[in-house]
Amino acid sequence: MPPALSSAPDPLERRQRLRVFRHFMAAASSLLTVVLAYAYAWFGHLSYAAALHFTGAVACSVTVFTLTFVLGINRRFADPSLTVAQLLTAGAALSWLAFEGPDIRSLLIGLYAVTLMFGAFRLSTGALLAVGACFLAMYAAGVGLDLWLRRQPWSATNEGVQLVHFAAVVVWVAWIGGYINRLRIRLRSTNEELKQALQRIEVVASFDEVTGLYNRRTIRDILAKEKSRCERTRASLCIAMLDIDHFKRINDLYGHAMGDRVLKAVATVLHAGLRGNDSVGRYGGEEFIVVLTECQAGAALLPLERLRLEIEAMTVEGLPREHKVTASIGTAVYRCGEDIDLAIQRADAALYEAKRSGRNQVVCHA
Ligand code: GH3
Ligand code: MG
Ligand code: MG
Repeated sequence: MPPALSSAPDPLERRQRLRVFRHFMAAASSLLTVVLAYAYAWFGHLSYAAALHFTGAVACSVTVFTLTFVLGINRRFADPSLTVAQLLTAGAALSWLAFEGPDIRSLLIGLYAVTLMFGAFRLSTGALLAVGACFLAMYAAGVGLDLWLRRQPWSATNEGVQLVHFAAVVVWVAWIGGYINRLRIRLRSTNEELKQALQRIEVVASFDEVTGLYNRRTIRDILAKEKSRCERTRASLCIAMLDIDHFKRINDLYGHAMGDRVLKAVATVLHAGLRGNDSVGRYGGEEFIVVLTECQAGAALLPLERLRLEIEAMTVEGLPREHKVTASIGTAVYRCGEDIDLAIQRADAALYEAKRSGRNQVVCHA
């Protein structure tokens, strides 16, 4: 039966482009944290050396992840978005700032939250909670290391409040992020269902239900395209109308279901017997239309006569052998520039002539 009318873009490539786009969003966000690190240094809450180290760490991780995505190495991993790896790397860099800048720790909690939010593109609430717990552990390690190495006076209450605040923010972001992730998954499956429904509608709107051939609407679209191609390239085009002879008798003698089976059998012969560039559709009832491209009037007679003979010779399951199915065919050449309906009318007139002259024959419009 005719090929599908349209082809969708490669979904794997589309997904990879989306991953690269999200990576660059995350990279831009990391750049913002670098700007903030220098702002903290400017206001004296962080040493410039620490800001510089932080810049180096961010630049290295962004370069490594960018190369991984651009070279397609990310496709080898179970999660090609490398979400957890990117989140943990960013969390480690922020924990370095927590180690270096005791004054900015409460500010950093906001940056951890923004970073964790990127996980909402891929991760469930549980996974976000796990990554958040890692953030908390890395932050605590940074703070603990600072207190241990520098042995400065510290307030257990202050540090404890910050840890509790951090944990609350993690739970909050994981909950909202997980909700966003569920919405994203539901949206994707709704989109998929819509796409499939659209494909089904496209098939229903383009093909004939009984024969599987193009329906009248599609064949008229094809004719319109062929008409403009002829006008552009001066190529020739033939149209043929085919009508099954005494079809009503088949319905009356053997029932409507047998009539449908005969329609399908004729459709199969027509579809199989045409060249790849030619098209055939059901025009209505027991009438078919054939579009022969690059074909002069005389040359059309040969393939059409062959189709007529094949229909005459075909057998239909359940139909007595002595009941021969035959068809009459009328054909006409499209005259460059004219309305395509005029060519269809001439083919129809030739079909009428074939019926009048005794049926089961091909007549070419003079
Ligand atoms: P002729 O040789 O002059 O073409 O005679 P005919 O009997 O083929 O033509 P007529 O126009 O008298 O009858 C066509 C019949 O086709 C009438 C209609 O019930 C039947 N028909 C139309 N569509 C379908 C269909 O989808 N399935 C079936 N089984 N019959 C159909
Ligand atoms: Mg008929
Ligand atoms: Mg008819």
